[in-house]
Amino acid sequence: MSYQHTLSIIKPDATRRNLTGAINAKLEAAGLTIIAQKRLHISKIHAQKFYQVHMSQPFYDELCEFMSSAPIVVQVLAGENAVAVNRDVMGATNPADAQPGTIRAEFALSIGENSVHGSDADDTAIQEIAFFFSEIELVG
Ligand code: UDP
Ligand code: MG
Repeated sequence: MSYQHTLSIIKPDATRRNLTGAINAKLEAAGLTIIAQKRLHISKIHAQKFYQVHMSQPFYDELCEFMSSAPIVVQVLAGENAVAVNRDVMGATNPADAQPGTIRAEFALSIGENSVHGSDADDTAIQEIAFFFSEIELVG
């Protein structure tokens, strides 16, 4: 067990449907603490930079178009094993494969419009948090 921070994003499909509070309730019920949060409308250029690890994927352009299509809510979640705990409560990338009760099982519209992003490892969490937040914005 280790205390970690992880980056979460509530995606445009979810902000459009007014699901920010419902998703936050699931994150908190999973034992995660939201120690930073802000609502942004990012440009496609910023989405491309954030998701550059997926640059060679066929879904990259559609993903970046989607992520810049409406507001997102970026968050830092904290807790014991926060990276893995968040991945568990998010559910599988494809909502058809997501466990019942997870955010994606309940709210995702498709494999692309799947309501939330979550860092996949401790090192990527550190990089992704630094992309959106400065130290002074993390209020633990
Ligand atoms: N994605 C997509 N089609 C795919 C795989 C991924 O549109 O076949 C999108 C989806 O929004 C996903 C994001 O690209 O959440 C990043 O993909 P990744 O494999 O990192 O999934 P995640 O870590 O979000 O579960
Ligand atoms: Mg990922």
